[in-house]
Amino acid sequence: MIILGIETSCDETSAALVRDGRELLSEVTATQMEIHAAFGGVVPEVASRHHVEDITRVVENAFRDAAMTWADVDAIAVTCGPGLLGSLLVGVSAAKGYALATGKPLIGVHHIAGHVAAATLGTDVRPPFLCLVVSGGHTELLTVDEQFCFTKLGGTRDDAAGEAYDKVARLLGLSYPGGPKVDKLAFAGNGEAYAFPRGLLDEEGYDFSFSGLKSAVNNALTKQRNRREEISVEDVCASFQNAVIDVLVEKTRRALRHTGYTRLVVAGGVAANRGLRVRLGEFGEREGIDVVFPPLRWCTDNAAMIASAGYYRAQQGKESDLSLNAYAQLPLDTWQSWK
Ligand code: ATP
Ligand code: FE
Ligand code: MG
Repeated sequence: MIILGIETSCDETSAALVRDGRELLSEVTATQMEIHAAFGGVVPEVASRHHVEDITRVVENAFRDAAMTWADVDAIAVTCGPGLLGSLLVGVSAAKGYALATGKPLIGVHHIAGHVAAATLGTDVRPPFLCLVVSGGHTELLTVDEQFCFTKLGGTRDDAAGEAYDKVARLLGLSYPGGPKVDKLAFAGNGEAYAFPRGLLDEEGYDFSFSGLKSAVNNALTKQRNRREEISVEDVCASFQNAVIDVLVEKTRRALRHTGYTRLVVAGGVAANRGLRVRLGEFGEREGIDVVFPPLRWCTDNAAMIASAGYYRAQQGKESDLSLNAYAQLPLDTWQSWK
C-alpha cells in the first residue's frame, strides 16, 4: 500500500510517498526555518502564507522523485492536528482537494502519531513498546500496542521539553530554534555547575513539568548579570540539559518497570538531542531495554512519518471523509476514538 503523506502543522511544508508504512519512496520538504529565525520564533500568519505558496510544488516533486503518478497511490494521509490552525488548514485543504479530484481515500493523522510512527521508517521495529514523545509542543509517555493504539500514561503540565530548550536558548541570546544550539554548547560545559530543579521527580506518576526549570535558569542568569559576573553559557546549557535528561530518563525507567515493556521508542524533535541519545542508550544497555531513536532527519517534522502513521491507521480500518477538519488542539484519545 503506497500512501502520500502531507505535513504542514508548523513551519515545514512536506510531502512523502511511503510503501507499507516503512519504505520511503520519496520525501520533499520546504522549510521556513530561516524566515522565522528573523522573528525569533514561528509567526503563524507568515507560516500559512508560505505553506500555500509551497504545497503544490512540494507534492509534485514528491511524485517526480519517486517517478510515480496518482495511479500508484492508494491513499492520502494528512496531519489534521494538533498544530497551528492556519498551517494545518493548508495541508488539510490540499489533501481534501486531491482526494476529491482523484477519488483516493483520505486519512486524517494526529501529528504525534506521526512522530511515533517515524521510528518504523526504514526499519522492522514493531510495537508493542513504550514511547517517550519529546517535541516542541509535547512531552508524553505512551504505550503503543500491536495495532498502533496509544494509551497515555502522563504528560507535561506546563512547558514541553522542546519548548523549555527554545526558551532557555532565548534567555541565553541564542537564535531560534535553540534546541540544537543548547545541545551543542552543553557538550563543552560542566553539567554540575548549577543545581537546577528536577521537576516532579519526587512525585509518583508520569507527568512532567519544565516551567520551574526555565524560571530557575532565568533567576540564575539575572542574579549573575546583576552582580556583573561572567556567565559560562556552556555551563548553563550543560546543567540545564542534565536537569531535563535526568527527569526524562527516570520517569521513563519507572514507566518501563511498571508496564514491563522491554522496547522504548523516543520520538519528536528533542529525540535528536545528543545528550539524551547517549544517556538513554547507556540506560538501555544497563537495563536490557531495546532503545530505538528514529534517524535524525525523521525526528523533526516531516511527511514520511505522516504517511507511515496513515498506513497503520488504514490497517485499523479507519478513513476520513471530506468533512475532515483541522484542529489546533486535538487530544490523541479524541483522534483515536474517531470512527
Ligand atoms: P509538536 O510535534 O509537539 O507539535 P513541533 O512539531 O514544533 O511540536 P518538533 O518539530 O517535533 O516539534 O521538534 C522541534 C523541537 O525540537 C524544537 O523545540 C527544537 O528546539 C527541538 N530540538 C530539535 N533538535 C534538538 C536537539 N538536538 N536538542 C534539543 N532539542 C532539539
Ligand atoms: Fe512535531
Ligand atoms: Mg518544526
